[in-house]
Amino acid sequence: MYILELLCKARVQFGIYIFLAVFSACPYILKADVYVEAPWVEFPLTLVNQTNGFFNAANHNYRVKVKEKSRLVEINGTTLWFHNGNDTHDEKLRFHPDDIQYILNPVLEPPPIAAAKKQLIVLDPGHGGDDTGALSVSKIAEKTVNLAIAKRLKLKLEKWGHEVIMTRDSDEQSLSLDERPGIAENESANLFISLHANKAGNEISRGIETFCLSLPGQRSTNDPKSQNPDQKNWPGNKFNLENSWLAYTVHHSLVRHSSFGDRGIKRARFRVLKLAPCPAILIECGFLSSKEDEQFFLKDSYLDYIAQRIANGVQAYFKGLK
Ligand SMILES: [Zn+2]
Repeated sequence: MYILELLCKARVQFGIYIFLAVFSACPYILKADVYVEAPWVEFPLTLVNQTNGFFNAANHNYRVKVKEKSRLVEINGTTLWFHNGNDTHDEKLRFHPDDIQYILNPVLEPPPIAAAKKQLIVLDPGHGGDDTGALSVSKIAEKTVNLAIAKRLKLKLEKWGHEVIMTRDSDEQSLSLDERPGIAENESANLFISLHANKAGNEISRGIETFCLSLPGQRSTNDPKSQNPDQKNWPGNKFNLENSWLAYTVHHSLVRHSSFGDRGIKRARFRVLKLAPCPAILIECGFLSSKEDEQFFLKDSYLDYIAQRIANGVQAYFKGLK
């Protein structure tokens, strides 16, 4: 009897989890169905085969998977979101040229930049002062988590010879969104990295997201059906190629062989990214609304691990430079 009762309970709970998982995943599945409109270009890689709704391609360095009629792409197992879905025409896979030129190509062929050995990196722990950011189930403030990761990351980057400036180094400090990239501008920074932690309306959403600035005229990842995407070329759009490469190297480093959960590289028009005077990303390092992720955020070892993975990604960014 007892076992039967347990089984029934488990089935109900499992059902709820499935429902929640499908429900929370819906925005990503449904909103992905924005197919490419003219102009379009053909896929630049040779397709190897098509399995389980994915087109597969490869070159000597990369395995690329493209989900059919979706914005979802995987490069070497790391998830990216294109601005537009793909489509087939005359048996040829086609895409919006912006997605190929500014999102796929910079990962396959990193953009050339004059590389200095010592780079100046601005780290921006999100929120601060009265602005706590998201609060976890047991009221851990996002501002505290962001700062803890940033302090660890600073030490690791400095160890490798980089100069690191923080937009804030205490939880009492508050800064406006404009002041943060303003610091990077005043310091002539080479990179700007904003650190955040996520919150969802449920307890099961988990994983890491890395954002870079949306391309002019293209819809952001979380608003893919917008009728009037911003056409403006923001200061941060000068670095479209570098932004994509930086987002890939850091996100790949964070999610590769890890159990954090890969929610992908996304596109948004966050103020700090729009005004960034150098290549820039914003990382959501996990979900404070998830009890599981919250347990991680309480551990020094996790904060250190996240910081190390971001640092490794930054080094990969510079190593990829020609
Ligand atoms: Zn935040």
